Amino acid sequence: MDHAATTPLDIDAFNAMKPFLLNDFGNASQQYSFARTAKAALKAARVTIAKCINAEPEEIYFTSGGTESDNWAIKSTAFAFGNHRAIITSQIEHHAILRSCHAVERMGIPVFYLPVDSSGVVQPDILSEYIDDSTKMVSIMYANNEIGTIQPIKKLCEITHSKGALFHTDAVQAVGHIPIDVKELDIDMLSASAHKFNGPKGIGFLYIKKGTQIAPYADGGAQEFGMRAGTENIASIVAMAVALEKNCNRMKSVSDHLIGLEKLMTSLLKKAELDFIKNGSPKKIPGNISLSFKNAEGEMLLHRLDLMGISVSTGSACDSKNTQISHVLEAVHVSENYAKGTIRISLGYENTEEEIFYIVQSLMKILKR
Ligand code: PLP
Repeated sequence: MDHAATTPLDIDAFNAMKPFLLNDFGNASQQYSFARTAKAALKAARVTIAKCINAEPEEIYFTSGGTESDNWAIKSTAFAFGNHRAIITSQIEHHAILRSCHAVERMGIPVFYLPVDSSGVVQPDILSEYIDDSTKMVSIMYANNEIGTIQPIKKLCEITHSKGALFHTDAVQAVGHIPIDVKELDIDMLSASAHKFNGPKGIGFLYIKKGTQIAPYADGGAQEFGMRAGTENIASIVAMAVALEKNCNRMKSVSDHLIGLEKLMTSLLKKAELDFIKNGSPKKIPGNISLSFKNAEGEMLLHRLDLMGISVSTGSACDSKNTQISHVLEAVHVSENYAKGTIRISLGYENTEEEIFYIVQSLMKILKR
C-alpha cells in the first residue's frame, strides 16, 4: 500500500525488456545492422511516450528518473546563458527539486519558495505576487507525493508565461495516473519516472518543449539530441514505454477502482470512530490517502502495520527525543497532535476491498488499545 514510493513492474513491460538484455544488446549509436533493432526500439519508445502526454517525440529526453530530470530542469535552466535571474518553486516540492534549488542558491541565484493553502494548493494569486520580470523559471509539482494534491498547473503556467519565464513541473506522481496534455497546458518542461507507473527503476524522462533554452545535462556523446550524453538504457526505455502506454489505456478504470477503495476506507475509518483527519485537497491523485491520527506516532504505526504485512509510509520521523514532521505537513499547517500520527497509504490497481477491510481492522487494533 505504498505505490507512491514505487510500483510493481508490469509483466508486459518486463517481457518487452528481455530481448534487449539478451539478444538485441546492440549499442543504438552504432551504424551496423546489429544495432538497428536497438535504434528502432529507441525511436518507437520515444514516439509511444510522446503520444501519452501529447508531446512530439523529439521533445522527450530519456534520463535515469525523476531525480535526474528535476536536477536537469532546475540547474541547467538556472545556469543557462550566464544570467542570474530568480527561480520560484513551492514549499512542498520533492527533495529532488528543493535540494537542486538549494544548490543553485549557493551559486548566487535567488530562489523563492511559495507557501500553499491548507489543502496544499499553490494559489495562483500568490504566484502573481512573487513573479516579476527577473523570474527565469517557475517549477511547481503537478501532484504532491505525500498528500496527492493536484496543482492548478494551467493557470500557474499562464501567469509564468505572462512574465516571460519558463514553467517546469515535477509530474513524477501524475504521469500514468491522470491525463496530461503538455500542449494544452503549454508546459515548457516536465519530469517523469517509470517506476511510479509500473515501469523499471532508474529510468525516466524530461519533456522539453521545442525551442526551450536549456543547457545540456551531461556532456559526451551525441545521445538524446546532444543534451544528455551516455549510452541509452534501451531495455528500460522500451519497458517504460510499454508500462506508460498500458497505464494510460486503463487510466479511467483504475482511477474509478482506486476512488472506490478510498471511499470504502474513509467510511470504515469513520465507522470505527478513529480520531483522524484526511490531508490534501479534493482534487488529488486517486488512491493517495494521507491520514493523520490524533495523538499517535507515525513511525510506530508504520512498524506495527509492517508486522501485520502492510507497507505504508509516514509523514514524520522520530529520533530519540523528537518527532520531526515532514516539510509538506508543516506547510499545510496540520496541528502537531495530528501531524505526528500521519501515514500515507497509496493504493494501486491490484489492491482489493478485502485489503481495505484488513488495513482498517489493523489500524483499529493498534489505535484502540
Ligand atoms: N519527484 C517526486 C514528486 C517523487 O515522488 C519522486 C520519488 O518519490 C521523485 C521526484 C524522484 O524520482 P526517482 O525516484 O525516479 O528519482
